[in-house]
Amino acid sequence: MKRILFLLWAAFVVNVIAQETPAPEVTVIRAGTLIDGKADQPRRHQVIVIRGNRIESVSDAANARIPAGATDIDLSGQTVLPGLTDSHTHIFLQGEDPAHGGYDANILTAPLALRAARATVSARRALEQGFTTLRDVETEGAGYGDIGIKQAIEGGYIPGPRLFVATRAISTTGGYMLEGYAPELQMPKGAQIADGPVEARKAAREQLDHGADWIKVYMTHRSWVGKNGELVAQPTLTVEELRAIVDETHGWGKKVACHAYSGIGLHRALDGGCDSIEHGLDLDDAAIAQMLKQGTWYVPTLAVYYTDWAAPDTPEGKRDRLRASVHEVSFKKALKANVKIVFGTDMGGIPWTEPIAQEFSRMVEFGMQPMDAIQAATSRAAVMLDMEGKIGVVAPGAFADIIAVKGDPLQDIKQLEHVQWVMKDGQVFRGN
Ligand SMILES: [Zn+2]
Repeated sequence: MKRILFLLWAAFVVNVIAQETPAPEVTVIRAGTLIDGKADQPRRHQVIVIRGNRIESVSDAANARIPAGATDIDLSGQTVLPGLTDSHTHIFLQGEDPAHGGYDANILTAPLALRAARATVSARRALEQGFTTLRDVETEGAGYGDIGIKQAIEGGYIPGPRLFVATRAISTTGGYMLEGYAPELQMPKGAQIADGPVEARKAAREQLDHGADWIKVYMTHRSWVGKNGELVAQPTLTVEELRAIVDETHGWGKKVACHAYSGIGLHRALDGGCDSIEHGLDLDDAAIAQMLKQGTWYVPTLAVYYTDWAAPDTPEGKRDRLRASVHEVSFKKALKANVKIVFGTDMGGIPWTEPIAQEFSRMVEFGMQPMDAIQAATSRAAVMLDMEGKIGVVAPGAFADIIAVKGDPLQDIKQLEHVQWVMKDGQVFRGN
């Protein structure tokens, strides 16, 4: 009798558990062509099985086992790829068009709630365009707002990509906007200002304490055309200041992204141990050799240097054109040398109304193979973000961050500007 009662009780418990935790939903995607983010060749007619928010299997349609009761999604006329990663964005920045007050208007006239509302729209736009992950490299004076937006996305309150955020960023006195105002005025700054290794380490500690996933450092600031027609960039932090930040950040198991254009500041960035060089407009041979030796990532952000050029006959206009031309040479050199190049745009510097994927066209125009450019925005970005195998790949065990485009992006990279279908974390965000 006792045994029967126990069995009845056990059956009841199992039943309750089964009712309380329903089996994860199963979805099946039929992909006409699959670019999986890692393999060098696409595969035709693949079946992707998703259980909950994870990819369970990827197999040839001919011998795929379709689980009973699975939701069927037919993308057999499309090219399926992993969700894309933009590793250099600013969701709190809304363009720097001089006609709209330039950079300063973002900080001087917009209430913080307006900036948060617009950041919410930026995040949504990124996801709509197939960018399921962003590394957002500082809020430009909006403090720790990125932490809040990340919480809102993770809490399911607003749609948006997976965010890796850098919070406030760090530069030195004389090393960041706002500037050019009367010296008597205490102007707000778009980054946290720190001078000396003690202050620099403290700034990093504060930002890490408040949840920064990465630390962003400005290693150069102003730039101009030098006496011999070369691009000159004003260096900011010393090697000692940067080393304090890198040492602190690495101790927390996090990485440091360094904005660096050229010359002294770029070399200090490398000597100080930056994990990624942002922009890297003028990479000399020594810089490239050091990047290879140290395994430094390169996030070039090409497209943004073709926006908002000043008039050609002005010093700023000449500088703007020089920046773009030396950048092209640097990118080609880095590509040839096999530097680890990762896709990044500086969206925010580019208005969020523009296509994020425009950066792909520049990369391909400057000699990168389309598959290589796609991997720069998928599996390679995942490695930089310590998310290898979890994002940037359509393979068993990865999060189900998947997109689809019409046509063949390997033939025409511009197809990636027209993403038609988006799934993040197993949920369809944008249908056909
Ligand atoms: Zn930037």
